[in-house]
Amino acid sequence: MPGATKVTDKTIRVALAKTYPKEIWYFVASFIFLLSLVRVISFVLQRLHRRRAPSSQTGGSYGSDPELASPTSLSRGTTSLRRIPTAAANAWRVIAFRSTLQIGKSYSICLADMFVTFAYILVLFVWALVNTTDLEGVKFDWSFYSNRAGTLAASQFPLITVLGTKNNVLTLLTGISYEKMNNLHRMSARVLLVLLWLHAGSKLAVADGIDADEIGTTWLNLGYVSVFAFSLLAIVSLRPIRAVAYEFFFYMHFALAFVVLLGAVYHTANFNFQQYVWPSFLVWGLDRFIRLLRVIIYAVSPRLIRSKSTESQESSARADMLAPDLVRLRVPRPPGFCWSPGQLSYIIVPSVSTLPIEAHPFSIASIHDADLAGESGSEEKGKEHWNDVVFLISARTGFTKRLADKVSQKGESAMTVLLDGPYGSSPDLDSSDTVVLIAGGTGISYTLPLLLSLAKNGRCRRVHFIWSIRDSSHLRWVSPAIVKALSLAPGSMSISVSIYITASSTSSIDLPAQVNVNLNLGGMPARSTESLDTGHSEPFDLEKTSTGVDLFDLRAVQVSYSRPAFDRLIHSELYGASGHTSVCVCGSQGIARAVRSSLRVNPFAGPNSILKGAPSITLHVESFGYA
Ligand SMILES: Cc1cc2nc3c(=O)[nH]c(=O)nc-3n(C[C@H](O)[C@H](O)[C@H](O)COP(=O)(O)OP(=O)(O)OC[C@H]3O[C@@H](n4cnc5c(N)ncnc54)[C@H](O)[C@@H]3O)c2cc1C
Repeated sequence: MPGATKVTDKTIRVALAKTYPKEIWYFVASFIFLLSLVRVISFVLQRLHRRRAPSSQTGGSYGSDPELASPTSLSRGTTSLRRIPTAAANAWRVIAFRSTLQIGKSYSICLADMFVTFAYILVLFVWALVNTTDLEGVKFDWSFYSNRAGTLAASQFPLITVLGTKNNVLTLLTGISYEKMNNLHRMSARVLLVLLWLHAGSKLAVADGIDADEIGTTWLNLGYVSVFAFSLLAIVSLRPIRAVAYEFFFYMHFALAFVVLLGAVYHTANFNFQQYVWPSFLVWGLDRFIRLLRVIIYAVSPRLIRSKSTESQESSARADMLAPDLVRLRVPRPPGFCWSPGQLSYIIVPSVSTLPIEAHPFSIASIHDADLAGESGSEEKGKEHWNDVVFLISARTGFTKRLADKVSQKGESAMTVLLDGPYGSSPDLDSSDTVVLIAGGTGISYTLPLLLSLAKNGRCRRVHFIWSIRDSSHLRWVSPAIVKALSLAPGSMSISVSIYITASSTSSIDLPAQVNVNLNLGGMPARSTESLDTGHSEPFDLEKTSTGVDLFDLRAVQVSYSRPAFDRLIHSELYGASGHTSVCVCGSQGIARAVRSSLRVNPFAGPNSILKGAPSITLHVESFGYA
């Protein structure tokens, strides 16, 4: 009775196509629950560690120079089984986050991202392809997996939408920052595209794939429009296209995503399955609404507060050129705009943006600290780094170039800047005994607030701030803020600042004669010399702080004319470290790669060294979206 089996087949496959999307969601929800649980547990463990380790505030065990650290401290005695959880966590970090696969010249992916992607592919395709043998014994009967692939893909639309938004419940629950979610957004969208083609393509590939009475119907046509729009979207989202024409990608994404979702809602409504798809509009709309609300509140609140207050407050942002290709933007902090070091904000500059919604992300190069803001006098140099919302913006070819051109033409000028933020996660450094901060060029926007905040909190024992710049004139960008950080640090905290000037020729660089310049020390900073305690000659004019001190007056500051050897710098820190060490890096891909590999191959990375008392290490990498 082939007719009867066909009817039964249909009943079975319709039932499975309805059941499996629910099962996938149970799976995804369990995974999210697990990540949230891990977050809560690690939060509790960190608090406990902080309570149990007040010793980290009682003074450093070594001096301010990493080379002074005891080289014997690596062999830290006998294996302690109590350190097994720390060793396991460290091994996981090394494998999951520091081992990367390089794809092409400009892209690398860590194993954790790869694992999540493969797991997602596996789960979706197993659910799509199991139980596809029909009642006549035909294996992988297309009619079983075709529609099921469609329902599975459609059911995942809200997930990929959530992963692509900035204000979302997943970030709230798991603490995973929106940029990392964005990577998953792209990867999961590509998986869904394959699934959608399995659905749409299989119908085109077999002779009776589409019933005669279905051909030409709106719901079918819109289904195909949706799949084609999705495919185009995947193409314009490719990294090389985003890198060359970001604006084009942005607006195409906006339009195509709308077409995909609208087509999908209409198409699935034919099978009463639209309830899985339309929530995507809600998720997207809520994110946009929150962003708009933030922008409006931060734009309006300073005016409201100022009109009530008798004090005159500066309201406009000010932009000036720090170098031919570097703009500093100082935005007076709108009431209610609070952020943590390492976070970023999107900025809109209506007089520079091509469309009102053109917003670009920049790390906030200042900290929000009411005490410091209250204490600082009006003449204090660098005070914008604890009073205002500061951005250091490198001129590239689009918005940033237009901004730089405008400021170069007009000189220091006032402009309206709208803020949407803060976003991104702030590295939790409170439970670290040793912190190594590494920046290349404008990457200092990420590490400087961390330095200021660490110095102000005074909790950790040792901070090494490493900054690699092309030209000595870049020192002007932030020198008063670095001096301030050094002055804030309590006596119990040891801070070193190592600055590497990598310009190939030193002839064009005017540094004070007394500055401790190391021309070729294999990347290691020279130890400070007494000569640094005196003033310096005229040509290089760093801004002095209100107390008349500049960067070069400080012993903790070392300047080298060489490229930093990150592995040696980091290893020398780790020799002296105990407890937990955090390494935060922001710079070019090359810098991020060098730091990752130095923490992957060095002897400290092995779980066995942790068991013997070597420091466990957490690495935080900010890549400005380029890595
Ligand atoms: C988390 C994060 C923090 C950042 N912090 C800083 C910072 O502190 N200082 C700094 O100088 N730069 C920072 N950037 C980079 C900065 O956002 C881009 O350089 C800027 O958006 C380029 O604008 P443009 O129109 O001049 O770009 P183009 O010259 O057109 O493109 C240059 C590159 O920027 C990327 N890009 C362009 N627009 C955007 C956008 N809206 N969002 C993301 N990437 C974009 C493109 O992929 C391209 O590779 C950060 C980026 C990210 C993702």
